[in-house]
Order: sequence, then C-alpha cells, then structure tokens
Amino acid sequence: MKKFLLLIGLAISSPSFSQNNSFSKDLFQTYDNYKEKTLNKRRIKHNDLQPLIEKLRVDKDFEIRTLGRSVEGREISMISIGTGKTNVLFWSQMHGNEPTATMALFDIFNYLKKNKALLKNIKLHFIPMLNPDGAERYTRRNALYIDINRDAVRLQSPESRILKSARDSLKADFGFNLHDQSIYYNAVRTPKPATISFLAPAFNYEKDINTTRGNAMKIIVQMNQVLQEFAPGQAGRYNDDFEPRAFGDNIQKWGTSTILVESGGYPNDTEKQFIRKLNYIILLTAIKSISDQSYKKINTRDYEKIPKNDRKLFDLKVNNLSFEYLGKKYTVDLGINTVERDNKKHTDFYNIGRIEDLGDLSTYYGYKTIDASDLVFKSGETYPKIVDKKNLEKMNFDQLVKKGYTAVAIDSIPKNTDFTHYPINIVDIRHMSIQKNKMPKPPLRLGADPTFLLYRGNEVVYAIINGFVYDVEKGKNYIKNGVIK
Ligand SMILES: [Zn+2]
Repeated sequence: MKKFLLLIGLAISSPSFSQNNSFSKDLFQTYDNYKEKTLNKRRIKHNDLQPLIEKLRVDKDFEIRTLGRSVEGREISMISIGTGKTNVLFWSQMHGNEPTATMALFDIFNYLKKNKALLKNIKLHFIPMLNPDGAERYTRRNALYIDINRDAVRLQSPESRILKSARDSLKADFGFNLHDQSIYYNAVRTPKPATISFLAPAFNYEKDINTTRGNAMKIIVQMNQVLQEFAPGQAGRYNDDFEPRAFGDNIQKWGTSTILVESGGYPNDTEKQFIRKLNYIILLTAIKSISDQSYKKINTRDYEKIPKNDRKLFDLKVNNLSFEYLGKKYTVDLGINTVERDNKKHTDFYNIGRIEDLGDLSTYYGYKTIDASDLVFKSGETYPKIVDKKNLEKMNFDQLVKKGYTAVAIDSIPKNTDFTHYPINIVDIRHMSIQKNKMPKPPLRLGADPTFLLYRGNEVVYAIINGFVYDVEKGKNYIKNGVIK
C-alpha cells in the first residue's frame, strides 16, 4: 500500500508538469519584453508583416525563403530556425479573417531571438499569413473565393500548393494549423467561452488513433494543462469527424502529427490581445515539449477529458423579459449579438446589433447577462424635435436616454453611412413616414435592432441601444456605436 501511495506522489509531482508550470509562468510574466508591439489590432495586412520578416534577416540563425505568391501576387514566406532533426511546421491565417495566431508568431520570433536553447533538438518552420489576399479584405476565403481548407486534395489555389509542398519537402514531424473560431463558442454546458479550442484531426472516417495522431493528442493535453493556469475552464475540443478535403485531416494522414488550435473569445478582449498572449504561451509550451520529448509521458486518454465545443454564447443575454402584444403578456429570454461590419478598407469595423434568438434560452449564456424579471420593457422613443446635424454633438445623450429617448432625428446624413459614433441611434428624416392600417408587429423580432429600455418604476435602469448596454443605475455606458435608420 505504501509503495502505491509513493507512486501516486511521484505522478503528481512529475518533473515534466512542474517544469512546464514554471516555464509557462515565466512566459506569462515576461511577455511584454517579447510582444511585437507594431501589431496591436486584428485587421493586420501583408504590408504590416513584410518589414518585420525583413528585419529577421539581421539574425543569421533565421532563414527566410519565399515559397511562392498568392493569387494576387503577394509573397508567402517561410521563416525557419533551429538545427535539430525534428521538423515542426506552423501555418497561420489560412482564413484571412483569422489573424490571432499570426500576431503570436511574431512574438515567438522575438522570443526565439533571445532564447535559442529551446532549439537544440528541433527545427521550426513558420508560414505566417498563408492567405494574404483574404487578410487584405478580412474574409475567410482567398481571392478565388475558395476556402483553402477545402482545397487540400484538389490544390487549385496557389496558397494550397504552397502549404502542401512545404509539408512534403520538410516531411514535417509536427504541424500546427492555426485558426480563429467564432467568439460564441463555449465549453459545453458552461458559460465559459472556448477561448482556445483544440483538435487532433482524424485521418479516416473510423477516427483511428495511430502514433501520428496519438502524438498530436499528447501535445494538446500538455498545451491544455498550461492553458488552464491562465484561462481555467476556457478550452474546448472540436468534433473529430473526418473532413476529406481539409488540410488538418490530410496532413495528419500524410504522417505529420497535426494540431489544430482555434482562438475563440475572451470577455472584454475584442482585439484578442490576451488570446494572442495565450497562443504565444501554449505554442512555446508545445515547442518545448517536442524539444525535450516530455509529451511522450502523456496518456492519450486525457485528450478525451477536454470538454467539447458548443455554440451557446451571445454577446448579451436578457432573461425573463416581459412585453405586451395584442393585449396579452409574454415572457421571453433574448439572445443579442453585436455583429462586426468592416469599413471600406477593412482596417477597422463598427457593430450592428441583432436579436439572434428569443424564447426559452435557458440552455444559453451571455458574455453579459441582465435579469429583467422585475423590470418593465419599453420601446425607445425618437426625440420629438428634428436636430441640426451641427448641434448633434452638443446634446446630452445621458439625459436623453434617461428620459426614454433612444434615437434622434437629424436634418441631413451623408450618403452611405449606416452607423454613428454617438451612443444613440440616428433617424434620417427623409426616411420617416407615417404608416397607417398596418397590422402591428411584436416589439421584439428576430433579426431586428435590439434597442429598448428597461424601467424600474419611472427610472430607466438599462438602455439597450444597438445591442450595447448602458447601465444607467451604475452610470456605465458600454455603447460602442449607434446605427442610422
Ligand atoms: Zn479557420
């Protein structure tokens, strides 16, 4: 019995875990020394990366190769470092609007400049931004409108051929397939966002586990252990149904242990800068594990313990909201999202609120939640006077909202404008018309603009404008932008 207890003790304080633990804590604490500060927003472009890649040439240990060009002729490079025999390939942003890991790769380059001991047994190869044309427009697909992740077999896109030939020429031992997923994914049956989701993709319909796939699972278990230190409960595991057209599944099949990392959401991290830091930490953890082979001690069965991904989050959830319609009272929960819309140059965005769902949403969660059980719902009113555009900025929006106004009508709006930086909606008087004899509609409709007020007595407690919350009681205004109607 004593011997048995001793064995358990050894397992708990196994050197691989405690070493990873201090390694990751150190990465967390020293991160600002290595963060690539020129990249600080998600909508990064090829032009932002090229000077950084050029600068790496100063360090003779980095080897930079042009692998080819995108459909529109943008150069796609591979950055390699290390002298070991184990080849590890990382590729990011195969989907143009999934840039979180790309930012983290440049942090990792800064780290590797100063910390080369990690590279003794391995050689690392990085292809940042595999889809620069998609990044330019901030779209998933490339300039041919092809989803590169469904082109692993047909190889019609130059970007797909570049990735395939990089994998084949290196015969990479490990591959890291770096993506972003919807911020509305959560760890199943919890309100926690799936800030990072993992997958060791299947290589056949039977979902067999061979050594290649098993090693990917082991690395994931270690990455997840470290992730739990900084974002407890915020990991998800992707469905492993075999997708015969996808790169992850095929690269696994071709004999490279393939790890899919998906960056999701984190509260109040719109630009995903904390999630980028988590990427930095878990990817360096994986690099260390491959280098010192500590992953070999992990049991693949622990992979199954990572909770599954689900999609049950909204930006805002309003519970138990009652309203009247045709003389009767109804109570519903509301699921509201503030969807991003890009500006013309895809360098920034504004948000459009939408009622995504309503009814019994008791199995759903929100990044923010309001309980409206003892509050009274009212649709907002438009301020009764038409305002001169020039006088708009002088208005006291706080007072307007407290009086129950959620929109202002102004005399002229520049063409093609559909949002305003003011924390209120704007109505264009040219589009105001009186509609008669129409069947009334319920005040809350699917897909509609979530703008309304919640009262206690005569006081506005919450104003919801364009899906954003103004917590009037606490004086906290989270309204990022209004819409123009
Ligand atoms: Zn993706």
